[in-house]
Amino acid sequence: MSDNERIKLESQHLRGTLADEIAGDASHLSEDSVQLIKFHGSYQQDDRDARQARKKAGEEKAYQFMVRARIPGGALTAEQYLAFDDMAQSYGNGTLRLTTRQGIQLHGVIKRKVKPTIRAINDALLSTLAACGDVNRNVMACPAPTPSRSDAQVQEYARRLAEHLAPKTRAYHEIWLDGEKVEGPDDEPIYGKTYLPRKFKIAVAHSGDNCVDVFTQDIGFIAELNGENLEGFTVVAGGGMGSTNGKSETYPRLATPICFIEPEDVLRVAEAIVTIHRDYGDRENRKHARLKYVVEELGADWLRTEIERRVGCLLDDPHRIVFHDVDDHLGWRRESGDRWFLGLHVTSGRVIDTTRSLLRSALRAVVSDFRPGIRLSGQQSILLTGIPEALCAHIDAIFADYGVSTDPGSLGVKRYALACPALPTCGLAVAEAERALPQLIGELQAQVETLGLEREPLSVRMTGCPNGCARPRMGDIGIVGRSFDLYDLYLGGDWANTRMNVPFAQGVKRTDLAATLRPALERWQRERSEEESFGEFVYRVGIDALNATVAL
Ligand code: SF4
Repeated sequence: MSDNERIKLESQHLRGTLADEIAGDASHLSEDSVQLIKFHGSYQQDDRDARQARKKAGEEKAYQFMVRARIPGGALTAEQYLAFDDMAQSYGNGTLRLTTRQGIQLHGVIKRKVKPTIRAINDALLSTLAACGDVNRNVMACPAPTPSRSDAQVQEYARRLAEHLAPKTRAYHEIWLDGEKVEGPDDEPIYGKTYLPRKFKIAVAHSGDNCVDVFTQDIGFIAELNGENLEGFTVVAGGGMGSTNGKSETYPRLATPICFIEPEDVLRVAEAIVTIHRDYGDRENRKHARLKYVVEELGADWLRTEIERRVGCLLDDPHRIVFHDVDDHLGWRRESGDRWFLGLHVTSGRVIDTTRSLLRSALRAVVSDFRPGIRLSGQQSILLTGIPEALCAHIDAIFADYGVSTDPGSLGVKRYALACPALPTCGLAVAEAERALPQLIGELQAQVETLGLEREPLSVRMTGCPNGCARPRMGDIGIVGRSFDLYDLYLGGDWANTRMNVPFAQGVKRTDLAATLRPALERWQRERSEEESFGEFVYRVGIDALNATVAL
């Protein structure tokens, strides 16, 4: 077994020595506790920008923690959002980060502030338990707040799945909320003593709109409607974006359609698949431990038969899945009657005040004054919901006063761009992502304007390593950190995120990324058929033809 398996086994359901270490004076945790605290929703990190200087000065690393809240479907109240805003100031680095899984992260939390932060999140009636770790993570769902029953139902199923698959250990309560210590091991009926071999991700989608990137999940539930009635879900399984350079047994994979189920079977089918991962996932090699490798190696038919065995009945064939779009839900949209919602773009999900725009202050002002509902999207944006029509222009004016545009039409290439945090906080990053994105977007914007393509949507997704947290293999353009300042380029995802992009160039310097893309964008401009997206164009002409263009 990998060392992580020993740590889980010996931890007595995620306790280990975390409580004592959190209470101690050291600036950081032991190796075992670094692994365990992930299950409680936090990663120990350090400021990697400061590493060298501190090493030279004989100082230890500048340790800090990321604390992540689990927010099923990205739905929270105005009061909960304001609580996070307060925490960013009191405990974090003054910013909030909206994640690609509809959660919120606080960065730069020093060790003695981790417990008050987790308590504050629980006081706001949210949790960090299972936001990270070898368990089911935040369950995604389309955040659109329209009054149709199906919108409410995908949100409802996300909540129910999150609740059903949450770890039952009392350790979380004991360590962070000072719950009474109960002797003896906890019962984890789904996970057992060693939890899952690796992380597990679930999303609930509508057919038609793939805004949750359902094929990148361990399980995707795709709702099928008959009018307003929810008929059931087509279940797809075995997706995941991560891979490791030089390890051929690792690769990104799209989830495979497995079966169609009635709404009342969602929880037991989800539990069956989670326990299949628990029992068949690789516990020796963590890089090969995701459910996608079980599905790829044992087959979709095997998975379906095994689910049937566990739920005790035969399952129907999957239905045909049709996605035509990935709706980013940005701009003003009618919700119902005279109520509207505003989808606000947040670059790389970073809610921050800068010299150019006071986004964090603007959001604080609007949320404090008008108390809208809040939904976070899988594209790292924020939706303010339930706003009376009479207030829309007023709210626009407030955002404008803070230098924040509410018009998605003004965003250009930035609109569909995603980036992971990467340097300086992520310990796995080998290259920049969030900090490099603005310059790259600026360069690409200049190119598309020169080519007259500025009105064409273009999705760019960038990560600082192949783990794929911003789902880079689904973009028109995927940019994946390979080593320091070098990136692999992938092209050709489709607009509905049902097809992965393919390798285009390897080891490109950051400053050469836009120039490397230019010949392909030029050919797109010259040869595209009407309304053909960049990804569709690449797919039609073939990556080899484009490589030849670059070689010329
Ligand atoms: Fe870190 Fe890699 Fe995930 Fe980016 S993709 S946040 S660099 S692990």
